[in-house]
Amino acid sequence: SKPIVAVVGRPNVGKSTFFNKVVGERIAIVEDTPGVTRDRIYAEAEWCGVSFALIDTGGIEPDSKDIILSQMREQAEVAMAAADVILFMVDGKEGLTAADREVAMMLMKTGKNVILAVNKVDKAQLPDDFYDFYELGLGEPIAISSANMLGLGDLLDRIVENF
Ligand code: GDP
Ligand code: MG
Repeated sequence: SKPIVAVVGRPNVGKSTFFNKVVGERIAIVEDTPGVTRDRIYAEAEWCGVSFALIDTGGIEPDSKDIILSQMREQAEVAMAAADVILFMVDGKEGLTAADREVAMMLMKTGKNVILAVNKVDKAQLPDDFYDFYELGLGEPIAISSANMLGLGDLLDRIVENF
């Protein structure tokens, strides 16, 4: 069976936008409202002749008591359990947050390969606080702009190297 890549991260970092660009269809729902994607969504993708399944998840909000958010957290946990590679997405415009640190700890405990993508880096110049993301201990962060389709090739190269 095909390797499974699960895209996880806080609501609104751009997971569904990334998913749609890679899959090439508007399957996932993208809205400005944080956390609007409530269902795990699977699609098949291919990069350089390598096929894999991509899972778009809702956000992970470790401290939230809100039902929708806890449901999304549950979905993300299921997706992570099934994944061969976890793509952890953070928001380069917002910078590193406490919630990102919590999610990173949770991901490290899975023992899976985790790739850190910093989305919303819409220009060639990296933001000054980009290097903060190294603190997560997940290796070299990869800058991408899902909206502008920047850096996606390098990220996909890294993903398929980890199968
Ligand atoms: P999700 O909740 O993580 O699935 O995030 P979405 O994909 O729904 O995106 C949340 C918001 O971020 C939407 O308004 C997107 O248009 C916006 N967004 C996604 N990717 C980028 C990007 O690369 N650059 C910028 N500037 N905005 C983005
Ligand atoms: Mg989404």
